[in-house]
Amino acid sequence: MSIAENITSIKAQIPQNVCLVAVSKYKPKEDILAAYDAGQRMFGENKVQEIVAKHECLPQDIEWHFIGHLQTNKVKYIAPFISLIHGVDSWKLLKQIDKEAQKNNRIINCLLQFHIAEEETKFGLNLVEVKEMLDSDEFKKLTHIQLCGIMGMASHTDNRKQIEEEFSNLKNIFISLRNEYFNDDVSFKEISMGMSGDYHLAIEQGSTMVRVGSAIFGVRN
Ligand SMILES: *Cc1c(COP(=O)(O)O)cnc(C)c1O
Repeated sequence: MSIAENITSIKAQIPQNVCLVAVSKYKPKEDILAAYDAGQRMFGENKVQEIVAKHECLPQDIEWHFIGHLQTNKVKYIAPFISLIHGVDSWKLLKQIDKEAQKNNRIINCLLQFHIAEEETKFGLNLVEVKEMLDSDEFKKLTHIQLCGIMGMASHTDNRKQIEEEFSNLKNIFISLRNEYFNDDVSFKEISMGMSGDYHLAIEQGSTMVRVGSAIFGVRN
C-alpha cells in the first residue's frame, strides 16, 4: 500500500478524537509530502538536526512534534517552531524549554514522559518526581511552557496483557495528575501512547495521541 493509503486506512481505524502523529524519522521529505498530500499535518521526529532541516524545506503549516530524548543544549534549535515536545523527562529540560520559549516570545507545549516499561533504558519520570516538581515554587515561575499531558512507551514485548497494563498505568497517572493539579486547566488533556505495533491497545486504554511510523512509511533502515 502507498503512504497515502496507509494514512487513510489508519485514520479510518482510530476514533476522531485521537490525534495521529506520523513519525517520519529517517524518512525523506518526499515521503512526508506524500503523507501531507493525503491530509496529514502532524509529524514526529526524534533528532534535532533532522527536524530542523525538514522544517526548513517542507510546508509551513506542518505541526512538528519532537518525540525523542531532547538534550538541554539543543532546545534552542527547535524552540522557534516546535508545536509539541513529547519527551520532557527532567526538571532541567523543562526549565530550559521555558527559557528558550521566552527568548522566542512564545509558549511551548510539552508532555511529561513517564517510565512505564520494564526496560531500564527508556527515559522517563515517575509520579513522585513529577509531583515534587509540580509542587515546587520554581515550577510556578515557568511562564512560557504549557503542560498538555503525558507520554509513555510500553515494553517491547508480545505479551498483550503486559502492554495493556502499562498503558492503563499511564492513564491512571494522567487521571491522578489532572485531578490533583490541572482541574482548571483544559489544556492538560493528552495521553500520548501507542505506536505501529500497539496503537489499537493504547486507544482501548485511553490514548488521545498515537505516534505511528512504520505502519505509515514502511520499515526504517
Ligand atoms: C520511532 C518512534 C515511534 C514510532 O515507531 P513505529 O513502531 O515505527 O510506529 C513512536 N514513538 C517514539 C518515541 C519513537 O521513537
